[in-house]
Amino acid sequence: QAKVAGKNGYRFYSRAMEQAVSRRVRMEQDLRGAWERGELSLVYQPIYNVADKRLAGAEALLRWQHPVHGPVAPSVFIDVAEQSGLIEVIGPEVVRAACRDAMRWRQRGGAANALFVSINVSARQLRSGDFRDQMLAALGESGLPPELIHMELTETTVLNDEEQARKILGHLRDSGIKVWLDDFGTGFSGLSHLRRVPVDGVKIDRSFIADVMRDPDDLALTSAIIAMAHSLGMTVIAEGVEKEGQFDLLRSRNCDLAQGYWLGYPLGLDEFMALID
Ligand code: C2E
Ligand code: MG
Ligand code: MG
Ligand code: MG
Repeated sequence: QAKVAGKNGYRFYSRAMEQAVSRRVRMEQDLRGAWERGELSLVYQPIYNVADKRLAGAEALLRWQHPVHGPVAPSVFIDVAEQSGLIEVIGPEVVRAACRDAMRWRQRGGAANALFVSINVSARQLRSGDFRDQMLAALGESGLPPELIHMELTETTVLNDEEQARKILGHLRDSGIKVWLDDFGTGFSGLSHLRRVPVDGVKIDRSFIADVMRDPDDLALTSAIIAMAHSLGMTVIAEGVEKEGQFDLLRSRNCDLAQGYWLGYPLGLDEFMALID
């Protein structure tokens, strides 16, 4: 243990803390250039219409295969990418790749023409100066119709700098891109805030869906979010549907879209295209 003497006594830095810090630093170094080395890739989790269980689109989720440690959890490396600013390099690559992949599955024709791709965008990406131009450039390059691109933003991302976020979101929505509020219900804003945020839809966080069959409060809240969002003309997506019973409840409350392990796991591009066929 390292011991640092201070005026008012001793402060102890545990070995565990030191290790956590240096692990982070090392992870940041490893993440640098990971895209170029082909260690990062996208998987696609199918999203279904609740009413008729037809495929509606997919959420693009980033995966990192570390050459030594193997797969690293997104909750861990996305955070490192955010803190270090690396997300400003990786984010645009994700947008480009997702648009390119969506164009590929569209070439299947038929119903595949109407499938959307939903892309996660973090706070730091949204705030980076030329984010809007990057989005539009990626769209233009790919030739994808803008309404088939959905952007997922968390509540805190939108609310931290409401004024600026509102402006950027406005521009994107003017160009036809759809914006969804991700992990809805976990933030601090509450239902009443919804009417002030310029979004096309909300994704109910999976923590609510998890207990929707057991906990009357979670069911009441889920129902209230759906009713409120609908009254504002927004689409409602439920995430983390792991059981048929959850899906049935969501259908009885007129939820629009759903994703989760019961409906389908995240898939590599080829597997997702096989699912379309
Ligand atoms: P998210 O956007 O809320 O994504 C949904 C997460 O729930 C994904 O975790 C997905 O694999 C997982 N999931 C889906 N269905 C179920 C289910 O039925 N049960 C359970 N328990 N989990 C389910 P994943 O892929 O580990 O991603 C975690 C988070 O990392 C995402 O949460 C998102 O915030 C972030 N993320 C992932 N890819 C990107 C990206 O390309 N850019 C940015 N900025 N963030 C990303
Ligand atoms: Mg998401
Ligand atoms: Mg989510
Ligand atoms: Mg979530």
